[in-house]
Amino acid sequence: MNQRGTYPARPRPLVVLSQGPGYPASARSAVLLHFGSLMNEITKETKQLVRLQAVELERARLTAALKALPAEVAAADTQLKAAQKRVADTEAALKREELLRSSHELDIAGHKAKAARFRAQMDTAKNAAQASALEHEINFAETEISRLEDSELASMEKTEHLEAERAKAQELAAKLTETVALIRARVGEQDLEYREALAALKAERETLREQVAAFDDGARLRHFDRIAGAKGTGLARAAGQQCSGCRMGIRPQVWNQLRDGVIAPCESCSRILYYDPAMEQAPAKTARSVSHELPGPVERKQAGV
Ligand SMILES: [Zn+2]
Repeated sequence: MNQRGTYPARPRPLVVLSQGPGYPASARSAVLLHFGSLMNEITKETKQLVRLQAVELERARLTAALKALPAEVAAADTQLKAAQKRVADTEAALKREELLRSSHELDIAGHKAKAARFRAQMDTAKNAAQASALEHEINFAETEISRLEDSELASMEKTEHLEAERAKAQELAAKLTETVALIRARVGEQDLEYREALAALKAERETLREQVAAFDDGARLRHFDRIAGAKGTGLARAAGQQCSGCRMGIRPQVWNQLRDGVIAPCESCSRILYYDPAMEQAPAKTARSVSHELPGPVERKQAGV
């Protein structure tokens, strides 16, 4: 019996009208009968399908999260290795500066010794040409000493800079070592947690699939699998006379069937549509105003889309 077209919203107006004065007894009983057949909550089979979709989505989410875990450790490790390399590089640079200064010290000592020798020879120079040559040698040694001393000074400054850089790099490496250890520990825990959750979901999935398949020889499950494989979800809640999966409108006849607890494929996206009276919009709204509203994020979430 289908008289719903005469009522703007359900189920409340049905009750009101059936109790109205002067309402023919036959019509009243018909309305009550109809009201009795109205779906107050989704069927057990639909609930199983809704749960199956939620389980499938959660499995996909956890599987992706599980896969991403090693990358998290690897990224932290890469940062740590870069910091450690910086420490090693600055240490090597410091060593080079130290060696450079040692070498300069030796060269300076050599040039000083030469200059002293040439000065001593000046006293015994036999002629002006010899004296001039010696003077030239002394000048050269002194210029070299001055150059090497300048270079030593520059090296000292560079060393100071490198030491500061090394301290910073060491600090960063120590922090990152801690961070990597923390990430490793957390990732280890999460890995275990995800695997346990996935094992539980796998078991629940198997049970649900058996239950859903038992309902209609697996036809519904096959349809669900086929659409889920292509679109990510095989099931969508009908709300506001719209498919929450593809947002397309639902024909009034199908919408009415859905509201009677029938499940039907969406004519646009083929997802299995179901109607959940527990999720209905506020009863004050008419079916017409409701049909122009998009389902909110909560509804979409519960519909698994
Ligand atoms: Zn659709």
